[in-house]
Amino acid sequence: MSEPAGEAKLEVKQASKEVKESENVAEKYSAMTVSKNSEMNMGELSSVFSAVPTHKPVKKQIQFVEDKQEFSRFPTKAGRRSLSRSISQSSTDSYSSAASYTDSSDDETSPRDKTQVNSKGSSDFCVKNIKQAEFGRREIDIAEQDMSALISLRKRAQSEKPLAGAKIVGCTHITAQTAVLIETLVALGAQCRWTACNIYSTQNEVAAALSEIGVAVFAWKGESEDDFWWCIDHCVNTEGWQPNMILDDGGDLTHWMYKKYPNVFKKIRGIVEESVTGVHRLYQLSKAGKLCVPAMNVNDSVTKQKFDNLYCCRESILDGLKRTTDVMFGGKQVVVCGYGEVGKGCCAALKALGAIVYVTEIDPICALQACMDGFRVVKLNEVIRHVDVIITCTGNKNVVTRDQLDRMKNGSIVCNMGHSNTEIDVASLRTPELTWERVRSQVDHVIWPDGKRVILLAEGRLLNLSCSTVPTFVLSITATTQALALIELYNAPEGRYKQDVYLLPKKMDEYVASLHLATFDAHLTELTDEQAKYLGLNKNGPFKPNYYRY
Ligand code: NAD
Repeated sequence: MSEPAGEAKLEVKQASKEVKESENVAEKYSAMTVSKNSEMNMGELSSVFSAVPTHKPVKKQIQFVEDKQEFSRFPTKAGRRSLSRSISQSSTDSYSSAASYTDSSDDETSPRDKTQVNSKGSSDFCVKNIKQAEFGRREIDIAEQDMSALISLRKRAQSEKPLAGAKIVGCTHITAQTAVLIETLVALGAQCRWTACNIYSTQNEVAAALSEIGVAVFAWKGESEDDFWWCIDHCVNTEGWQPNMILDDGGDLTHWMYKKYPNVFKKIRGIVEESVTGVHRLYQLSKAGKLCVPAMNVNDSVTKQKFDNLYCCRESILDGLKRTTDVMFGGKQVVVCGYGEVGKGCCAALKALGAIVYVTEIDPICALQACMDGFRVVKLNEVIRHVDVIITCTGNKNVVTRDQLDRMKNGSIVCNMGHSNTEIDVASLRTPELTWERVRSQVDHVIWPDGKRVILLAEGRLLNLSCSTVPTFVLSITATTQALALIELYNAPEGRYKQDVYLLPKKMDEYVASLHLATFDAHLTELTDEQAKYLGLNKNGPFKPNYYRY
């Protein structure tokens, strides 16, 4: 009992300290004019590019320094994993469209064996087919339509070029939405080279479109493990170009550079990391005293966790299941393992379609939340024989075991929405007595000797990433956060960030959210002076202490 109370007190202290320092910083910077050469901070960004026209802009007060937190205080949703993470568990914390309309399955030649040149004569890229660039451009244009906040940031900042001189090497899902982010970084002055953090998620036509405009992309859909590391290496290791910033999703690029190019790594000004796993790996480096670069943990920012994890999954779980199985949900019995952000999103969507939803949980708080939301909390073994669908969302391993798979009924569906492919014990299904039948792309029937079939989706990999698209708008929120984190780290005066892992400040989260409110024509209420005084808040935020849970 005493421990949590102590922790809460500590957080209150940190939060109030942050507010005070933000005010000082606001005063300090309010007189500054932003020019190409001046040192910028988030406060300046938010005032210069101003927020949205529909409500008062967040002003010049964002400061990060006190936001450093120990990673051990965050939930490690992906569980502890070794630094030598296998590619089969490639990062999937930020999600992207798995759709690629131009999968040229007819062309079996490895991109590594082709010589391709873009229209400007450059061959500094490796994609499936550069001729798909025009089609990719259309995909990017479509994505832009639902990423207006990021585009507005691009427009407001591009005359200032806050990333002039930045050489960003990125390793993320390469999709139309990521392309909008990359093109924003380029518009703000950065040079970018990019590679994929997942062997399946690259939209080939988008990779081609980026290569056409001079972003050196090394990625294609369906890379082998060897290709994956080859691409990372070619992205980083090029003559006459040395990266000074990293944008990573999963930590593979960071780790590759740390191990293989330590001298280049030392000179990096900042790392922005997107995923649970990547953040965990950074923290391990930091704990071992080996992190020689400041890093920003984007994963644990509110605008990532409460939007990407919850809303993205709420919107994409049904899509993934329907595209693969044509299942009807009304009256179906579904068990969702884990009632965290992802689980909550999945349950809400399933309930809305009339499914009977059960939840399994290890944590009494999340279990109680599930009860209060109207779900039956059960042990998996209690329902395993009669449920129609099992969805894992725990970030844990062996949540569904072989023994349980043996007891599932004929025709039931099993799939995973968590980070890695170890939640369902898929490996245990690869035994001689079971027959695997590939019935559709990403859909396997696993057949028991008595003829029972269990439908396994995406071989236990993350369902929405592998089998559906995800909402562009959510990715805009994440991408805007990433862009701002890069700008802040790149422009921070010496000493603001030490060799450690930092959390995004609350004000930055609030700024990202405010940029996206315009889409909904949402109008914020402003605090009166009296109210601000009463609550002890600055009228321009931050509006919540760090420990606030939303
Ligand atoms: P979370 O920590 O909020 O929730 C996970 C929940 O699972 C927790 O409440 C935990 O108590 C519970 N849990 C752990 N082990 C369990 C077990 N054996 N049985 C039942 N419950 C168990 O994490 P989250 O944000 O919901 O993310 C969950 C996973 O989904 C992570 O791996 C994350 O990386 C991934 N993720 C997926 C997407 C997507 O689009 N599919 C998006 C974001 C995150």
